[in-house]
Formats: sequence, structure tokens, C-alpha cells
Amino acid sequence: MSGPIEPKDAACQDEDLAGVEVREGRQASVGGMRIARVLPTKGRRTVGAWCFTDLILPSDGLDPDPMEVGPHPHIGLATVTWLLDGEAVHSDSLGSEQVIRPGQLNLMTAGHGIAHAELGAPAPLRGVQMWIAQPEETRHGGSAFEHHADLPRVDLGTGEAAVLAGSLGDATSPARTDTALVGAEVTLRAGVARIPAVDTFEYAVIPLDGTVKVGADIVEHGWLALVPPGQSRVPVEVAGDGARFMLLGGEPLGEPVVMWWNFVGRSRDEITQAWRAWQDHDDDRFGPVASRLARMDAPAPPWHRTR
Ligand code: MN
Repeated sequence: MSGPIEPKDAACQDEDLAGVEVREGRQASVGGMRIARVLPTKGRRTVGAWCFTDLILPSDGLDPDPMEVGPHPHIGLATVTWLLDGEAVHSDSLGSEQVIRPGQLNLMTAGHGIAHAELGAPAPLRGVQMWIAQPEETRHGGSAFEHHADLPRVDLGTGEAAVLAGSLGDATSPARTDTALVGAEVTLRAGVARIPAVDTFEYAVIPLDGTVKVGADIVEHGWLALVPPGQSRVPVEVAGDGARFMLLGGEPLGEPVVMWWNFVGRSRDEITQAWRAWQDHDDDRFGPVASRLARMDAPAPPWHRTR
């Protein structure tokens, strides 16, 4: 090797990262929050078992409404909550009540059924709400809630990552995983980082602050880059003031999921049954949630006909 490798040289070498796809998120309003939905996206339902990602965007208003998401059910998925600014209280039908702050992880596993509510503090809130589809082995099972205030960090040369789920480099999250996957918040200074990757995993890179370049593709805030399996590293280039992004990855799920409202299943019948149980106040399946917020009403599935 002759002479120092500059970031621009390294970037050129990395342009052979093949098959990266970049998709724009869809902006919407949910529970008083402005969000960008980056997953699912057109033609792409899952990345590993990750099946849903909303970025909670800063409010445009000077006096934003706090997040108020009343009691609602989930089946067949784990919710992963990660805040960048602000704080919120999670309450669920297991009796959990947990304040979450930036840098902390809330992981709620629904199994056959759980209900929860989320109430933001009256301060600007920014964060990421993600779901993981559960595999057949656990999706009919019990529900659970975990809070992790301290997560392991891994040095990436031009920055570091907090590991929320699975392993990255030599750091492993204490959080439960039901399938082979990784979730990490990566913070980088200007330069090129080669993020360690598992070659059987597919990955998503989701900018939270700043813009990143994945291989040869520029990825803006509110967008998503999809990286196919077969990599031992995911090269990410950052310019200027640095950047922060979520890295989600995992073994491709290999089976289609049916997602509707807050339910993840494998058939429309399963979703219809969950909808009915929630509308019928089936406390054996979902249980009551101690919350001052109003219980959410589930809309009928679009395939369901009233008779
Ligand atoms: Mn929820």
C-alpha cells in the first residue's frame, strides 16, 4: 500500500457494493405526531424480521401536542421503541409502566396478544418506532415486556453504535430476539465506516440525522437504503458534520406476513379473529391497560363483510 487512503479513495473502492435500493418514506400523521413511514415500503414488506419502521419527526408547531396513543392491541410482533428527544410512558396489559428516555430500549413482545398505551411528555418528541415479526415458534405464545436502560456500544473507527438487538462486532444486546437479527443506532463522524455484516443477513440503513452514502447511493433523512445479503461489511460514507442512522438487519424471513392495523399474522382469518377479540373486549386475549387515554377502536379489516 502506497500513501494514505483518503475517504474519497475508499468511497471509490466501495462502489462495487451491488444491489443497493433506496426508497423514500411516506409522511403521515399518527397520534398527534408527524411521522415518516420507511417500512413497509413499495414492493418490500420486511428486512430480516423487521416489518415496520416509523420515524417520529420533530413537530412543525411551536407548541406541539404530546404523543397520546390510547390502549390498543398487538399480535404476532415485538415493538421496539427508541427515542432521540423527549420522553414517554409505556403502560401495558401485563401491568408494566415504564418511562423511556433517549438511549434506552423498550421491547414489547405480543405473542398471542397484548395491549398497551403510550403517552409522551409535553416536550418535543423524536424517535423511531419499529416492529419485528415473530416466527411461528413464538408468535402464538405469551407476551412480555423488557426495558433496557444501558445498551452495549461498539467502536466503528469513525464512530460507534449502540446495539439494541442482536450483535454488532463484539457487542451483543441483552434484549430478547426470536430470530437472527440486528438493530443498532450508529453515530459517525465524517469519513467511511465499514460496518461489520453477516453475509446471510439483509440490511436497511435509515438516516436519523444527516445524510449517508451507502455504497454509491446517497440516502437522505426520511429515506431507507436496502442492502441485499452477501456482504461481510456495509460501507457507509458520511460527510461534513457527521450522521446518525438506524441499522436494521436479519435473515430474510422466508415467509409472507399479513399485516393489518396493529396485527401481524399469516392469514386474513387470524387478523379477523384478533380484530373481533379486541372489539369484543376479550380480556383473556388482550387484557385491560391502566391509562387515562381512551381505548382505541379497531376499524374492520377491509376484507371483512358486515352481514
Ligand atoms: Mn403499539
